Amino acid sequence: MEIAIVGAGFTGLTAALRLTQKGHNVTIFEKDANPGGLAVGYQEKGWKWTFESFYHHWFTNDKAILGLAKELDYPVLIKRPKTNSYIDGKIYELDSPATLLKFKKISFLQRLQMGLVLAFLKFNPFWKPLEKFTATDFLSKTIGKKAYKILWEPLLIGKFGKYAKNVSLAWFWARIAKRTTSLAYPEGGFLKFAQTIANEIKRQGGKFYFNTDVLSISSTTKPQIKYKTIGNLKLEIKNYDKVIVTLPSFTFLKLAPQLPEKYKSSLMQLKGLGAIILVLRLKKQFFKDNTYWLSICDPKAPVLAIVEHTNFIDNKHYNNEHLVYLGHYLPKEHKYFLMNEDQLLKTFDPFLKKLNLDYMNSIIATKKFSVPFAQPIIPVNYSKMVPSFNTPIKNVFLANMQQVYPWDRGTNYAVELGEKISKLIQNS
Ligand SMILES: Cc1cc2nc3c(=O)[nH]c(=O)nc-3n(C[C@H](O)[C@H](O)[C@H](O)COP(=O)(O)OP(=O)(O)OC[C@H]3O[C@@H](n4cnc5c(N)ncnc54)[C@H](O)[C@@H]3O)c2cc1C
Repeated sequence: MEIAIVGAGFTGLTAALRLTQKGHNVTIFEKDANPGGLAVGYQEKGWKWTFESFYHHWFTNDKAILGLAKELDYPVLIKRPKTNSYIDGKIYELDSPATLLKFKKISFLQRLQMGLVLAFLKFNPFWKPLEKFTATDFLSKTIGKKAYKILWEPLLIGKFGKYAKNVSLAWFWARIAKRTTSLAYPEGGFLKFAQTIANEIKRQGGKFYFNTDVLSISSTTKPQIKYKTIGNLKLEIKNYDKVIVTLPSFTFLKLAPQLPEKYKSSLMQLKGLGAIILVLRLKKQFFKDNTYWLSICDPKAPVLAIVEHTNFIDNKHYNNEHLVYLGHYLPKEHKYFLMNEDQLLKTFDPFLKKLNLDYMNSIIATKKFSVPFAQPIIPVNYSKMVPSFNTPIKNVFLANMQQVYPWDRGTNYAVELGEKISKLIQNS
């Protein structure tokens, strides 16, 4: 079969790998210059490893992607970095039952109560009965209002903003059930790993069109793609037996305006947030105590997380620079998306100074990254809303992160999606 895949993120790459291995002729269209999608990386002069535009790591139980790395003989680092939480102006280590028991902002009884509830979520394999509850309702009733208000409400509001109250307990369950304290990372960076998969796809006969924007997807007798490559003035048109679209649903709707209204409105009801990142390249460590991840439990703070990548991965791979992400999930209309690096830094600075008074003197450079769709909102009973792989356009399939459920989206689940969609196509 002649198969087109739109998007060279981990979903598209995995689907392409499996389909080329089965002998199909696969062409992958990617608007970026490199594979990797949201996990794509870049390399500054003097760096030996690539570095992701948006912070990325794997959990040690991310079986699908770790399995793929093993299959391709790709080396993976595993480490236990330090993760902390910023609550009411103080930093607490809260990444294990033992550290939770020492969390003095709530009474010992409340700590025990919270520990039991989290243990129930962690070890209960049955997520389906949970999906009809909101995380907010369940947590405030089971762990108590005070503990909920101090710890979880700020994180839910920080992450989901005005949607926080609608977020399903199934999503929260998945976050607790899945989290591991040790984390994994592909040696050389996610971009190097994505390039290794892309090379294997090419070795199997797959073709890539990078820097190529797919502008429309339609169907006459066969699915048809219109696309344009940077530097080429001509619009190209090609027909395929099957097309897999791995873009966010709202982008798919723009590319295929002829889709029926009922289908459009079913996809439009799915909400999501964008992501904004400011990367700081520093001469000195930001967190001197080696903290990798700091969750900010304060909805008024300008950032949701501060992630010092080089407190997880040795900075010798980045010319001894210290690399820090300042990140937030926000609606794509938020003013931060229009700000440049200097404006963002100025906005974040008063908060950052609370954590490191001197960091400004150590800045080498800053870089902003943003994406309009990065985090699907998972409301109650999402299982009834998950879009199907099949679309109303015959032989055009949709595989994107809004189909990842109950787990929180991630490259591991992109690999799972790629595996599933390739099987479906082979059997269709
Ligand atoms: C801030 C942030 C932190 C994250 N942290 C982690 C983490 O720690 N661990 C983890 O595993 N995952 C993490 N993720 C999630 C992970 O990046 C995604 O779940 C995963 O990369 C999705 O892969 P995908 O292939 O489904 O989609 P995408 O990666 O979105 O791929 C879609 C591709 O389509 C391309 N494209 C879009 N429009 C067009 C067009 N018109 N024509 C051609 N190409 C087009 C895009 O350029 C992109 O390459 C994070 C994401 C963000 C934003």
